[in-house]
Amino acid sequence: MTPCCLTRQTLAEQFALAARLYAESAVKLTSLGKSEVDYIRLRDDTIEAQRHSEAAFRAFIQHVASHRCSVAAPGTMHCALPSDGATGI
Ligand SMILES: [Zn+2]
Repeated sequence: MTPCCLTRQTLAEQFALAARLYAESAVKLTSLGKSEVDYIRLRDDTIEAQRHSEAAFRAFIQHVASHRCSVAAPGTMHCALPSDGATGI
């Protein structure tokens, strides 16, 4: 199955990865038993990961909003992309 919008797929993967890294940072940061140096390093990592995840999320929703590539055409599993002349088989 080919994705109907490669940009959307790329942005979705980037957002999913960034969100996962943020979640992992959060777990490491909030677990007990680390030195203050480690805590500060993890805190900064988590702030950075959150920023990155937010930016990736914004890029994804902005693309979908302008391209409408998350909307399925009625009665099909395909997206209702504006026709670019490349109709599938
Ligand atoms: Zn798209």
